[in-house]
Parts: sequence; C-alpha cells; structure tokens
Amino acid sequence: MTVGEAQDFSRFFSAEAKARKSSPLKTCIHLFQDPNITFLGGGLPLSKYFPWDNLKVESPLPPFKNGIGHPPSGDAEDTCLVHVRRDETTKAGDTIDVPLSRALQYGHSQGQPEVLSFVREHTGLVHDMKYSDWDVMATTGNTGAWESTLRIFCEKGDTILTEQHTFSSSIYAAEAQGINVFPVPLDDNGIIPERLEYILDNWNPEAKKPKLLYTIPTGQNPTGSSLSDDRKAEIYRIAQKHDFLILEDEPYYFLQMDKYEQDVSKRKTTTFDSHADFIASLTKSFISLDTEGRVIRADSFSKVLGPGTRLGWIVASKQIVSTYVRLHEMTIQNPSGFSQSIVGGTLNRWGQDGYLDWLIGLRVEYNEKRDVAIDALHKYLPETPIFHVNPPIAGMFFTISIDTSKHPEFASKYLSKPELVEQAIYEKMIESGVLIVPGAWFKADGDTQPPQPAENKKELDPTRIFFRGTFAAVPLDKLQEGIKKVGVALKQEFQL
Ligand code: PMP
Repeated sequence: MTVGEAQDFSRFFSAEAKARKSSPLKTCIHLFQDPNITFLGGGLPLSKYFPWDNLKVESPLPPFKNGIGHPPSGDAEDTCLVHVRRDETTKAGDTIDVPLSRALQYGHSQGQPEVLSFVREHTGLVHDMKYSDWDVMATTGNTGAWESTLRIFCEKGDTILTEQHTFSSSIYAAEAQGINVFPVPLDDNGIIPERLEYILDNWNPEAKKPKLLYTIPTGQNPTGSSLSDDRKAEIYRIAQKHDFLILEDEPYYFLQMDKYEQDVSKRKTTTFDSHADFIASLTKSFISLDTEGRVIRADSFSKVLGPGTRLGWIVASKQIVSTYVRLHEMTIQNPSGFSQSIVGGTLNRWGQDGYLDWLIGLRVEYNEKRDVAIDALHKYLPETPIFHVNPPIAGMFFTISIDTSKHPEFASKYLSKPELVEQAIYEKMIESGVLIVPGAWFKADGDTQPPQPAENKKELDPTRIFFRGTFAAVPLDKLQEGIKKVGVALKQEFQL
C-alpha cells in the first residue's frame, strides 16, 4: 500500500520550540568522522583519553528456550557476548556495535545509528505505519520524552487532556510548567470516547482548546485498564475533529497478556506459531492508525530490559522528531553512550526475532504474575459488590475499586466523604503491613480559566475510590501474602 506524507503540525509548536535554533556546531559535527577533514571545530576530547578500552557484557541468548529470567552460563550455547571495542572498524552504521570512541564522544543527538536502525526496523515491524515520513529518536525514557513534549507543544496556561487518573509524575511535570491537566473519565476499557467528545463539543468557547491528549493506552498507570482498538479509532477521529495531538506513553505495551480466566482448568497461556502471530496478537497502537502525523509515540526499554538503561525512543513525523532533536541538543544532548553501546550491541546480536522472543518470554512471566494476583484477590477479598477488580490484560497493575458509600460509618464517621474513607483504608493497610496506593494520588483535576461547564467534570461514580497494587515488584509468595493482608484489612474495615 502506498502511503502519503505527514501533515505540517508546526502550528502546535510552543513559542519556545519555534524560537529554538539548531546549534550551528551540531550541523558540522558529522565532519569529525571524515578522514579528509582536519577537524579543529569543536571541543571534542581525543578518544584515546577515554579510559575505557573495550566493554564486554553477557546476556542470555535467543530464543531463550527455558524462558527468560535465567542468567547466561557463559557458554556459547546460552550466552550472547557483546564485545564493544574502542575504535570504529568501518563507517558508522555498517557494524552492529557503537564503538566507544563514538559512543562516549559528543554528537549523534538523535541517537547512535546502530540503535536507531534497530528501533526503526522494530517500529516498522510492529506498527504498520500509515504515512511515509516518520522517524525515531533516542530518548532517556518516557519521563524525559514527556518533559520534552511539554516544552515543545505547550505554553503556560495551555490545557492538556489526560485520563482522569494518570501517572502522577506526568501530571506534576505539566503542572510545574503552568499547564492545566484536564481529566477525561475512563472505565475498565480506558478513556470513554463519548465523554471525551462530549467534553470537547461543550468546551467553554472562552477558554483555549486543548492541544494535546496524553494517554497511557496499554496497562494504564494507575488503573491497569487497556484501551480497546475500537476506542482508539474513535479517539483518533475525535482528535481530527477537535484538532489535537495524541501522545501515547507506552512503557507497558509489550506486557500484554491473555484475558484472565478464573477457572484454572480452562486456563492456558497462548503460544505463538510465529513472530507474525505474536505481532498480530498485539493491541493496535495510536501511531499505527495515524495517517496524518498527529500522534507521537513514546516507547521505553525501562519495563522490558531495565529502567536504569535510561533508554527509550519516540516515533513521530520527521518534522516533529527534528523539533525534539533540536531541544535535546540543548538539554540532554543524547542518552548515555554506555547505554546505547550495551543495549544496541545486545539487540543487534539478538536481532529482531531474538528481541521478539524476549518479549514473548516476558509475556509468559507477566501472565503468570497477573494470574497469581487475581486468583489471590478472588480468594481473599470479601465477596461483595462493594469491591470490584478488573483483571488487567496488560501492564503491572491491578486495582481494587471500592464503593465507599457502603462503609458502615460512611455518614457518621466519614461525613459522606469518599476521600476520608480512602485515607482511613490507606492507614489501615499500612497498619496491617501492606502498601497499596490510593487512587487519589493519581487524580488529574485541573481546569481552564475561565472554567469548563460543571457537566464536563462530572464524576461518573462519585462514591467509588480505588487502590493500585502491582504484581511486578515481589516474588509470587510475597504477592499472595500481601493480597491476603489487603483482604483481611478490608473485611475488618467494612465490618464484613
Ligand atoms: N510513563 C508511565 C505511564 C509510567 O508508568 C512510567 C514508569 N512508572 C514512566 C512513564 C517512566 O518511564 P521511563 O523509565 O521510560 O522514564
């Protein structure tokens, strides 16, 4: 299928992004590699003064026959050895490694060619892009990508849309820049498109309209919900109708699992005959629906390889990517060279197939963890409609939603205020030796100036609160023990 080019979205750029010039020094840095040029132009230290001569790291070797989570033995049959040398043996991009003389030098703000080429190919395989001039840029992960996004698109006083409960750092990063974070209701299947459309159709005409929707479509943090493919198409249509951009923050994208099956005898983990089958099983991304270039996708290695890699990437139109590159030239410059050498060297040896094998292996692990968590919730939570659990189909989080109005002392002790019951439950959990996190910590509740009509901020279920727990962080026995404590504490609190 032939696809067209992305549209020009420069009208969304902030004054800061429009004013930022490309650093002239960065325009000639590639000549540093040119043997015909005597490069006297930049403050680049000689690479022989970098104390590191070579770098060796071992990881397991695809196809990870016994699953992931087994350290490599050091033998060739199960060990992938990355040996990165100091010096370039061929031209940049021709080898699979980022040599240390380049990785540890200035330059390549967009990312090292060996990392970018891997990530580009991976993006093409997974997302079936619908316009031609897209590109990728290396980031320090999605936290930094979001901070850059705010600077590129938003001014003080602008409004962005987010899920009603969302990753608190993302809210605070926006609020610290004077940006209003306006909530959109969500349910077990993510943002409710009808509510989004209602809010925008009835937007107070005196207030500037939102430029951007920030969403965590898969394994949403904190609710654990995942946005269905139908809803994504609807939301994309609404984005076109009301002309805003979509930032999909997708660190949990590859932690997708089977639907939870309570009956253990019917439970089976899906296996895939081919990588194509695995890719076909994945939920559609916003970027794969995007024919215009109005979506920016933030991907991260944090949840699939390790948060300390501080490495991720964005996918967007070339126009938008180059605006991020100009910002990075003046802020982070680029993600750590060590990280790019190690991750790039590993992934280029694993290959696209090996990386998909790793992701399939992760899927098996998270499926099991999710099952253990939800089984334990079914076992230990008192059986009553007061409590609701939505078994997640992706990510690391489960939530227990609670109808506070059913608390025996809702009116008398807690003055009919759900937030007071929430605080009391939180304290009770700590007393019981378990930590789960109140949903209120993730609540977006900004408003425009002048404000939106009250109906736009209507709570769908005002007496319900929720708590977020994770099944990722502890071994399975601890997970069960923790959930048992949660069940006992809730039973006592609600006098059941
Ligand atoms: N976005 C979301 C939704 C997250 O949950 C997290 C991690 N908790 C991040 C971003 C941070 O990701 P990174 O490590 O890539 O900065």
